[in-house]
Amino acid sequence: MPIDSKHPETLALHAGWRSDPTTGAVAPPIYQTTSYQFRDTEHAANLFALKELGNIYTRIGNPTTSVLEERLAALEGGVAALALSSGQAASAFALQNLARAGDNVVASTDLYGGTWNLFANTLKDQGLEVRFVDPSDPENFRRATDDRTRAYYAETLPNPKLVVFPIAEVAAIGREYGVPLIADNTAAPLLVKPLEHGAAIVVYSTTKYIGGHGTSIGGAIIDGGNFDWEKFPERQPALNTPDASYHGAVWVEAVKPLGPVAYIIKARTTLLRDLGSAPSPFNSFLTLQGIETLPLRIERHVSNAQAVADFLSTRVEVTKVIHPSRQSGAERERADKYLKGKYGALVGFELAGGLEAGRNFIDALKLFYHVANIGDARSLAIHPATTTHSQLSAEAQLATGVTPGYVRLAIGIEHIDDILADLDQALKAAS
Ligand SMILES: *Cc1c(COP(=O)(O)O)cnc(C)c1O
Repeated sequence: MPIDSKHPETLALHAGWRSDPTTGAVAPPIYQTTSYQFRDTEHAANLFALKELGNIYTRIGNPTTSVLEERLAALEGGVAALALSSGQAASAFALQNLARAGDNVVASTDLYGGTWNLFANTLKDQGLEVRFVDPSDPENFRRATDDRTRAYYAETLPNPKLVVFPIAEVAAIGREYGVPLIADNTAAPLLVKPLEHGAAIVVYSTTKYIGGHGTSIGGAIIDGGNFDWEKFPERQPALNTPDASYHGAVWVEAVKPLGPVAYIIKARTTLLRDLGSAPSPFNSFLTLQGIETLPLRIERHVSNAQAVADFLSTRVEVTKVIHPSRQSGAERERADKYLKGKYGALVGFELAGGLEAGRNFIDALKLFYHVANIGDARSLAIHPATTTHSQLSAEAQLATGVTPGYVRLAIGIEHIDDILADLDQALKAAS
């Protein structure tokens, strides 16, 4: 029986699973199998014809992974989800599911570096053009839209700038044209629900807060079920014209009996089938294990990060603190509209001593790990100018918000006194 709750604390433990039908096991088992025996030939034929949903082969679906998918969809307020082997696979599939060679997508400039490379180079080489626009003016999305625009793409809380994306404003522009907004919500799970603001699709790297323990790479796409793909059929040919790769199925028609899931079923039955970025059942299990405490962890991440932002603001070694709570004007209005006072767990700051101080600060840390990651339960730090952004020119670094003395912190759930003590000693050592 599905649990009837709208509370994330309950859904994180119960959505998508009660107990194992054969053994009664309470924790979702790791179904470590590649394939599934069909009941008879009719059952097999129905599964392949999508007349019945069920397990065929773990590249396309797995019972452990489907618990993860149902739980993510429930937490996000979507209708269905597709779990993938990485966040990179999720962002690639999210676009490729709608846009083909010759089509384009309009994306925010403020993106994770891996996403930027995928869009600016790999997808471009495949003939899919991504047009990057400044998100501070939502109208930039309209200006870049033409007849071949299939989607808009943005991160809700992009780092290092930590300026919240105008989700509702851009989603509303897209809906005028039949263009869905795809939102990467990796940095703000539970803190903002993009689907409630008009986004059609949510993308996650579950590697970060959702898994939460730095053990498993993973990604997911969640279908909001709130987008009318048939309203402008010429805008979305991938879902409205016969698909040669699935015996001529027109996706919006073929899956109608299953609900408003054309987008996510197509992604599973074509892209995942063909490109194969399936998660291992073991990683799905670990990610599910992480989700059980996601609501608790997020609360602590957020309160610790706020305390860190306040602490850094009092320090003479620090010239600027980058955190939504330190913003003003339109940026702050957006932060408050979407995050409602819970400003996430990422904190940036600039050291007066520049590049040298940034390097010294990182080397002096004892509790914080020096890693290229966010969303671990442990506190993490990185100096982008000498690592993630070191291949960019000084000018290009500045455009992304990285100055020589910029340090990014991903605040963990340790006791706040220990976090502040480590920052205090490292600041002293760096100056
Ligand atoms: C890490 C990350 C990704 C990529 O996810 P992987 O799981 O590392 O492939 C995408 N978007 C954002 C915002 C990320 O932080």
